[in-house]
Amino acid sequence: MYLTVKANTPLAPFCSMKVGGNAKYIGTPENIDELNSIIEFMSDKNEKIMILGNASNTLFSDEGFDGAVIFTTHINEIKTEGNRITAYCGASLTSVAVAAQKNFLSGLEFAYGIPGTVGGGVFMNAGAYGGEISDCFYEAVCLTPDLKEVVLTKQDMNFYYRHSVLSENSYTLIKATFELKNGDNEAIRTKMDEFMRMRKDKQPLEYPSCGSTFKRPKDNYAGCLIEQCGLKGFSIGGAEVSEKHAGFIINKGNASANDIIKLIDYVSDFVFEKTGVRLEPEVRIIR
Ligand SMILES: Cc1cc2nc3c(=O)[nH]c(=O)nc-3n(C[C@H](O)[C@H](O)[C@H](O)COP(=O)(O)OP(=O)(O)OC[C@H]3O[C@@H](n4cnc5c(N)ncnc54)[C@H](O)[C@@H]3O)c2cc1C
Repeated sequence: MYLTVKANTPLAPFCSMKVGGNAKYIGTPENIDELNSIIEFMSDKNEKIMILGNASNTLFSDEGFDGAVIFTTHINEIKTEGNRITAYCGASLTSVAVAAQKNFLSGLEFAYGIPGTVGGGVFMNAGAYGGEISDCFYEAVCLTPDLKEVVLTKQDMNFYYRHSVLSENSYTLIKATFELKNGDNEAIRTKMDEFMRMRKDKQPLEYPSCGSTFKRPKDNYAGCLIEQCGLKGFSIGGAEVSEKHAGFIINKGNASANDIIKLIDYVSDFVFEKTGVRLEPEVRIIR
């Protein structure tokens, strides 16, 4: 069988920070059978495997990845049945939100504009504007590392802020079902448009980034603390604390991954020294 795998390939074009070295292999399966075959093939070769969606929350170092990185974005079918929507791992959160709106279903408005996939969104328990994936998650079909299919319920998922069980167990999410409420599709559209407008107003979307660099600390906001410490606009190489939103570290055009990682570490240490609050990266750094 022909597999869509390339050897020794740059990761940067696939990643939303537009940095990172080469992966030993990159796989871009078109469907679940092909995803299974690539995982099986790489496991037999004893290669390390990393499953990614849109890499909008993942930062590879300049050394790249000594194994196989598999991007799921071509596996993106979405089906609606009653008030449930089932979407495959690589469907964009935005397209799932749009499908919900078209079917008069409310509950995923917050996800409109988050540039990740269903797999990455469930893994991260992505959220915005008062909503998060766990609010409407119903169940997911996952693959165990030895390629057995399991169904995980909401209870199995151990969701909390930017966390799910998927970071504990190396499962691959194949598809997820969301349970939504019937709503008025004009009102749903208005809410989605309002969230998108807020993103465009507040976020430096004109530069590559991974969104909020740090998790929100208890009773505070990372961006506020960083701004209070005078770090807005501070840069290392081509990596900069955004002038528009201090919670974002952006690639001004020529950043290396190591510039960005150094800046993340610097900001975290600086804020800790000044405020006693330790900022933890929300971005998943693969060093
Ligand atoms: C401009 C911008 C704005 C953003 N705004 C928000 C926001 O409002 N709220 C928010 O929460 N996040 C936000 N993000 C961050 C990011 O989009 C989310 O974390 C998103 O859920 C990541 O999805 P992804 O598909 O890109 O994940 P990736 O970066 O590809 O992966 C993230 C993690 O999920 C794992 N993963 C991915 N797919 C699977 C799968 N099928 N099975 C198992 N594990 C998998 C990966 O191994 C990795 O550890 C933003 C990012 C950007 C660039």
